[in-house]
Amino acid sequence: MKKIKVDLQERSYRIFIGSGAVGELPNFMKTRKSSAPVVVITDKTVAKKTKRIMDSVIKKLPNECFRIIVPPNETSKTMEFFQDTVQKISKKTKTHRPIIVALGGGVVGDLAGFISATYRRGVPFVQIPTTLLAQVDSSIGGKTGIDLSEAKNLVGAFYQPKIILSDLRFLKTLPRRELRNGIAEVIKYAVITDIGLFDYLEKNMENILSGEEKALEKIVYECAKIKAGIVEKDELDAKDIRIVLNFGHTLGHAIEAAAGYSKLLSHGEAVAIGMILAGEVALRLDMMKETELERLKKLIKRAGFFIKLGDVPITAIMNSYGYDKKFVAGANRFVLPKRIGKTEIVDDIPTLLIRTVLRQYLKKN
Ligand code: ADP
Ligand code: ZN
Repeated sequence: MKKIKVDLQERSYRIFIGSGAVGELPNFMKTRKSSAPVVVITDKTVAKKTKRIMDSVIKKLPNECFRIIVPPNETSKTMEFFQDTVQKISKKTKTHRPIIVALGGGVVGDLAGFISATYRRGVPFVQIPTTLLAQVDSSIGGKTGIDLSEAKNLVGAFYQPKIILSDLRFLKTLPRRELRNGIAEVIKYAVITDIGLFDYLEKNMENILSGEEKALEKIVYECAKIKAGIVEKDELDAKDIRIVLNFGHTLGHAIEAAAGYSKLLSHGEAVAIGMILAGEVALRLDMMKETELERLKKLIKRAGFFIKLGDVPITAIMNSYGYDKKFVAGANRFVLPKRIGKTEIVDDIPTLLIRTVLRQYLKKN
């Protein structure tokens, strides 16, 4: 079992990574000497896939335990399910302050985290991420929230968990496409800070894709360590430090939005394209060598991404990009790669250059 400490003064916590990590839950409850009722928030698919392992863990808990199941998709991250879930919690736990456990991917983590931040003005919460994406990214750092019809994550809070238990056994049932979603973020971490990790990915991509536990443990550990380090320096995303995590996401988000968050294009697929496009922009600004960009493209292809924009029209992408720009206070800020392992934040990238890159990219694919 590997452990990482996320050092945030009185909000510090630990991440356990390994096969069997959820076994720490009873120990955690015992050391807190808490008799609070435990509310596990999960989705329907995860509830089924994790049942055997979770039943045996919950049996060892000294606390009373309830389970609330939400649908296994983004519709759970809405006001409707926020309200529905808090009412269920209130009915089940009455006057007690519960401990909330988020068991699932990013959707469950965001919803359960936001409920934890707000229910009774904040109750302790535990993250048990079950997707690669959540284990390497969304469970760490305290970003929680729900969507409005206007935009995703428009209502939310920074609220840190008390512990994160990343159990690699859960990744075994993850569909290939969901695994790839996480791999896009793993490649992102390697490009922004860690050439050693990039080399490792080049050597071990097949092992990772086939779900080999040792390889998964290595990447979850390395990425969680990178994310924890960035979060420690910029907990509230206010210092231009956490922004590097947006590499591949500026255009990635615009592409996702333009595609209407459809099944045609997942978050990881959009980010994979976004990273390549950021590389193309960097190449045209003479910031990155062509050989480096080729290396990045090759790895992304080997991860199995079919990097096509398909029917997503450029005008729609440019519109969402413009909206995103206004949304983040008018700033046109890009995280661009200089080489594998190093990025730079560049302001005021000409819109024309972005349009050109999109058009050339579409032609090539
Ligand atoms: P993320 O944002 O982390 O990709 P989501 O919460 O959107 O995660 O989950 C993606 C999908 O994968 C959901 O349909 C969810 O039910 C499913 N899922 C999550 N964890 C597992 C798992 N361990 N095994 C199988 N399916 C899972
Ligand atoms: Zn992402």
